[in-house]
Amino acid sequence: MFNLAHPKLVTLAETEGYAEVADFLEDHALGSVVPTVCVVSDCDHTADLEPDQRAGFCEACGPASMKSGLVISGMI
Ligand SMILES: [Zn+2]
Repeated sequence: MFNLAHPKLVTLAETEGYAEVADFLEDHALGSVVPTVCVVSDCDHTADLEPDQRAGFCEACGPASMKSGLVISGMI
């Protein structure tokens, strides 16, 4: 079940310059590095990390809270 309406996913897509989450996912579905976003509620730090990243350390706020857009969407 994909979750294209996740607020962090919408934020990530917008940060990367996409109006539609689906377009963002289509462009990055096969990437070797993909945009990730910090899922802490008051932090929107983004970085390019592994496609299956679900616990990367956030350089802005500290915890292992970086998740890739593909993970957040449920694609992987
Ligand atoms: Zn953060």
